Amino acid sequence: MTDELLNVSDLNQFVYCPRRYWYLRFFDTQGRNYERTEGQLMHDSQSTRGGWLNELYLEDEDLGLKGKIDVLELNGKPIPIERKRAQSGDYYKSDELQLAGYCLLLEAHLNEPVREGAIYLYETDQRMHIRITDELREAVRERIAAMRAMDADEVPPITENPRKCEGCSTRSYCMPQETLILEPDRVPSEEWEAEL
Ligand code: SF4
Repeated sequence: MTDELLNVSDLNQFVYCPRRYWYLRFFDTQGRNYERTEGQLMHDSQSTRGGWLNELYLEDEDLGLKGKIDVLELNGKPIPIERKRAQSGDYYKSDELQLAGYCLLLEAHLNEPVREGAIYLYETDQRMHIRITDELREAVRERIAAMRAMDADEVPPITENPRKCEGCSTRSYCMPQETLILEPDRVPSEEWEAEL
């Protein structure tokens, strides 16, 4: 992959587990075609109401990213808002990176700095504001480079944290437990040793 644009939402998948992203990208685990899905997003209806813009699709060749901002608040400086489901009342680091990816896309689109985004946890009705720091921007760029460098012939290792595998939708392809039983020299962590 050199010219193909990455989905911002896949930053989240990659940070959760690079192996998971590998399956989603190189296998049709969802029974759908990523490119077709993204193409449809471009034609989703947009609506603006009371200083809010709903569903803004953006892409940028220089960043190598494309994606759809859930909601854009337009009262004052534009603030991208990403909706997340989180019964725990908190979000993950990977959600921050995803939001930063949307902020970078918006920045490129508007040609002005976007220094703030927000995550809205709809299960608990909380809105958390996130500063888009230089560190976060750099982290996004590093992840994009790592995702672009992935090879269809090289499946990444199994995550060190077995708890991540419990609800993973690509588990039936990845088969972490079975793989590690067959390849005991590749067991990635003590947590896994306790599981096997
Ligand atoms: S099952 Fe675990 S190791 Fe496999 S892709 Fe999912 S999170 Fe990663």
